[in-house]
Amino acid sequence: MHDKTLAELSQGLADKAFSSVELTEHFLKRINDLDGNYNSFITITEEQAVAQAKAADEQLAKGNTQALTGVPIAHKDIFCTEGVKTSCGSKMLDNFVPPYNATVIEKFNAAGAISLGKTNMDEFAMGSSNETSFYGSVKNPWNTSCVPGGSSGGSAAAVAARLAPAATGTDTGGSIRQPAALCGITGLKPTYGRVSRYGMIAFASSLDQGGPMTQTAEDAALLLNVMAGFDAKDSTSSDTAVADYIATLNDDLSGLTIGLPKEYFGEGLDPAIEASVQAAIKEYEQLGASVKEISLPNTDLAVPCYYVIAPSEASANLSRFDGVRYGYRCEDPKDLHDLYTRTREEGFGEEVKRRILVGTYALSAGFYDAYYKKAQQIRRLIKNDFVEAFKEVDVIMGPTVPNTAFGIGEKSNDPVAMYLEDIYTISTNLAGLPGMSIPAGFANGKPAGLQLTGNYFAEAKLLNIAHRFQQATDWHKQLPATIADQVEG
Ligand code: GLN
Repeated sequence: MHDKTLAELSQGLADKAFSSVELTEHFLKRINDLDGNYNSFITITEEQAVAQAKAADEQLAKGNTQALTGVPIAHKDIFCTEGVKTSCGSKMLDNFVPPYNATVIEKFNAAGAISLGKTNMDEFAMGSSNETSFYGSVKNPWNTSCVPGGSSGGSAAAVAARLAPAATGTDTGGSIRQPAALCGITGLKPTYGRVSRYGMIAFASSLDQGGPMTQTAEDAALLLNVMAGFDAKDSTSSDTAVADYIATLNDDLSGLTIGLPKEYFGEGLDPAIEASVQAAIKEYEQLGASVKEISLPNTDLAVPCYYVIAPSEASANLSRFDGVRYGYRCEDPKDLHDLYTRTREEGFGEEVKRRILVGTYALSAGFYDAYYKKAQQIRRLIKNDFVEAFKEVDVIMGPTVPNTAFGIGEKSNDPVAMYLEDIYTISTNLAGLPGMSIPAGFANGKPAGLQLTGNYFAEAKLLNIAHRFQQATDWHKQLPATIADQVEG
């Protein structure tokens, strides 16, 4: 069953080919048997999953079904789940059991989806390799000595290893798209404000956005249909009407203009990735699209701009972890000051501390104008580059990441090398635009991702563009050899 897409599993449930309990138990067994190889889950919610599956089977029997009724998925451990530990990959929240659900979780519950558990991630979503997790590195199913990307690396690895048919992720600077690319799956970061951030533990609030991580664009559309929409509990949530993301998947692509930013094909791009991207563009030309070279002149400012804004917001957001309200508290504090400092010293990992220090510095009196304000001005220039580009093209394409999955440990002592992982993804977040990564072949035997960036709220168009490619190619169907061996046919 695990070789099927979410759409196929949904059909199988409707056709009564299997029950939700059978399906859920099948995936739980896979997680229990195989996740020792990948470390993609932090928490497995076995009992809750089976109870939800029983309830879903009752609904299915009555014919009260929605597309996701009875379908199991996994959630990044950044979404608060009532009664289920939500760690955000940190020792600081290792003991945190939220009293409420994130809106995204509520929506999946209302849609009848089953939650298999919570997936591993970089601590507080800071990272590009999953190596900053308190729960240890996640291993890439295509090569277990390599990272899966991050920060949603557990979700990406779980889907790639078919331990879950689909999963949720979040993307602040690339954390859905980069691990999707490195693990050979499909990932969508929606427009800022499209998916509620309520109950999604905050990293950099003006950049964070939740989205689907799936095998196919069709599956991403199924998840986004549930996740998207206005939420009064999130003040930055958008009330723009939500499309039916399934309805336009098959629209014709003739007349589509693809913009290729010359800045995305320069120095530092692995030639094998470039070749995969060029081959994908050729495929799009076959499908009726035309290609235009464009320029996003401020691209090289995106990483430095992000590494002022994101740590600044993080330093403010993470001030709540003080040992008083919830989460980790140090042993035997001498006084209040000792409680604060030791709790934070012991509870946060190195990368999180680095970000808090950078952010606090950038926001401090005397430096604010030189760093934070300047970064906000650059952010506007980056956004304007996209606004100009979308006057001429319908979608922007390029590589998702300049390289394929790298070795565990290879970049962990070099934060700047790690930060450059997101060189093509970060500007999308700074501009608040939707972006996707889809499998586009292999480079050096590892998956290569094609990035699609769309105009504001153009998720339906992006999914359509991705779906048509997946109808014409089978890169998204390729499985790591060890996983392919497990397919019973
Ligand atoms: N890799 C980037 C960072 O470390 C992006 C992370 C993310 O999108 N959550 O901040």
